[in-house]
Amino acid sequence: MKVVENSEENIAICKQFCGPCPTFKPNGLNMVKPNMLFCARGQSEKPVEEIEDEGCSCFGCPIFRDHDLKGAWFCMHGLEGRK
Ligand code: SF4
Ligand code: SF4
Repeated sequence: MKVVENSEENIAICKQFCGPCPTFKPNGLNMVKPNMLFCARGQSEKPVEEIEDEGCSCFGCPIFRDHDLKGAWFCMHGLEGRK
């Protein structure tokens, strides 16, 4: 796995995948820090037990592929638990 940079460019890419993800807006993750780009910024500050898992769109994201990320659901589990 390569480190994902917390950059404007990566935010723009993340918006295309976390944005329409069924777990994202229905759980209000966009309203809670770090809002998105969880694979760089870490998991949501919303308690994981309060997030209803409706699936993860990271698998289609080029950042996921290009950084050889594993596990996905970074909003719920961050990166550490997924290595
Ligand atoms: S990390 Fe995965 S589950 Fe979480 S909002 Fe993004 S695409 Fe959805
Ligand atoms: S891998 Fe997931 S959290 Fe990371 S930029 Fe892509 S959609 Fe967002």
